[in-house]
Amino acid sequence: MANEPPLENTQTALQMDPFGSRPHNHSQCQSEALINAERICADQDARLTPIRRQVLTLIWNSHTPVKAYDLLNQLQTSQPNAAPTTVYRALDFLLELRLIHRLQSLNAFIGCGVAGDLHHGQFLICRICHAVAELPISQQNNQIDRRAQQLGFQIEVETIEITGICKACQAASPDRLK
Ligand SMILES: [Zn+2]
Ligand SMILES: [Zn+2]
Ligand SMILES: [Zn+2]
Repeated sequence: MANEPPLENTQTALQMDPFGSRPHNHSQCQSEALINAERICADQDARLTPIRRQVLTLIWNSHTPVKAYDLLNQLQTSQPNAAPTTVYRALDFLLELRLIHRLQSLNAFIGCGVAGDLHHGQFLICRICHAVAELPISQQNNQIDRRAQQLGFQIEVETIEITGICKACQAASPDRLK
């Protein structure tokens, strides 16, 4: 770790370590994600209301996926009356604007590091620590889209989730690979 160069910004941080598990200045990731979200909402005439903003901030507390009820619990520390529907509505909004992605296999949500770029989510998910790396697929060179179109299949949700074991977990417990 000591030999690694300092990470200067989010993009560099996520490019160098898509799992976001190396030490880095995460508050910068979080604030950049929020600035980006403000811009995307403005472009689309959508309103990032305080509650939506708060849910997005909570999701960006880390690079690990977070479940809806954990978000609700965290939200209730500042707003004891927050209802589950409040969280679900905020999540729907954030999903629709593609500021976050839903990971079906973990039933959890993660902030999109490339929000605003048209892409489909493709994720590497560590089954041990649940670290997630997004490998965005641009819409232009998406084979799945093309094949689906040829077959007359209308895609509704397209998130590809690939499960495995991250580098850190392989190093920490080689016996779990068996
Ligand atoms: Zn970060
Ligand atoms: Zn994304
Ligand atoms: Zn792991």
